[in-house]
Amino acid sequence: MSYQIAIDGPAGAGKSTIAKLVAKELNFVYVDTGAMYRAMALYCVKEGVSKDDEKAVVDLCRTADVSIRYIDGEQAVFLNGENVNGLIRTPAVSDAASMVSTYKEVREKLVELQRSLTDTENVVMDGRDIASVVLPNADLKIYLDADVEVRAKRRYDELVAKGEDPDYDEILSGVRERDYRDMHRDNSPLTRVPEAVYVDSSYMSIEEVKNTIIDEFKKVS
Ligand code: C5P
Repeated sequence: MSYQIAIDGPAGAGKSTIAKLVAKELNFVYVDTGAMYRAMALYCVKEGVSKDDEKAVVDLCRTADVSIRYIDGEQAVFLNGENVNGLIRTPAVSDAASMVSTYKEVREKLVELQRSLTDTENVVMDGRDIASVVLPNADLKIYLDADVEVRAKRRYDELVAKGEDPDYDEILSGVRERDYRDMHRDNSPLTRVPEAVYVDSSYMSIEEVKNTIIDEFKKVS
């Protein structure tokens, strides 16, 4: 039997940082589902398909081959055989991902891929619908949250650290827009399932959040 830890929450709450650390400590596989939606979005951007044209996006995504490999323990997402990890973190792809992920057929294809990864492995999986849809029987469900201003500031600091000159207000409105879309879409909106442990990371260190989750896992394993 394999263990499953589901971590959901809004953009910028620290899910991927924390999920990676938890997976490392427990020696589980980390599955970043957002990267899969980003790969689909990248494909649309590359092919000049408008993210707002559901039919065109779904038709294109049907032909997409998205797969996951682990290289030196890190997840790499492949789009039609190409490792696209370095191309999926741009603001344009973030924005397109939050739109293409509203389409039912796109979600169905990726949920199947996500579930297939849990067949034989212990996993920590993060996303928006992991506890509610992808792994409803997960051993531990976490809802990782943080204030919207704190999340926008984290994105801002990340970009500054990369040598960019971002506009904080623009980032904040982008985060709010993605939150709204993720929480209000018809298909698998971001929701906090009642059994999820709620963790507000706004004023916690990364170490504190990680330890909280490990302690919760010890209670159920
Ligand atoms: O987590 P990340 O920011 O990389 O996700 C990119 C986008 O993919 C999110 O804004 C969200 O709209 C979508 N997503 C989703 N379901 C998931 C993971 C991500 O809809 N399980």
